[in-house]
Amino acid sequence: MIRRFLYNFMQGRNGFDDLTRFVWILTIVFLVLSFLPGLFGFVCTLIVFALIVYTWWRVCSRNVYKRSQENARYLARTASLRTKLRDFRIRFSMRKEYKFFTCPTCHTRLRVPRGKGKLQITCSKCGNRFSGKT
Ligand SMILES: [Zn+2]
Repeated sequence: MIRRFLYNFMQGRNGFDDLTRFVWILTIVFLVLSFLPGLFGFVCTLIVFALIVYTWWRVCSRNVYKRSQENARYLARTASLRTKLRDFRIRFSMRKEYKFFTCPTCHTRLRVPRGKGKLQITCSKCGNRFSGKT
């Protein structure tokens, strides 16, 4: 019953997307900050309300085309940052087994097993050789 209602309600509406998710994270950050005393906390409370209204407006918006364009713009602007974050997560998860180097010539990321001492590293992409401590 509720599910059916929600389904009907969300028909033709934007729903959650990446930009909405990002705004949610912002909302949580400001929510935490809003517990601070004084004017700063109060301003953060107002921002939290504004962000919640904005989120619901986006989720319920019927102008799906325009919202998806906004989402695409957001994704394009944050593409390099999101790639770096993903890169960092991967490197962090393998940090015990591998050491990562960046080729000084072509900036390709190279993965070398740890604990091999000082090594002569050859870039797999451009063939440049440089030394590194593993
Ligand atoms: Zn290289």
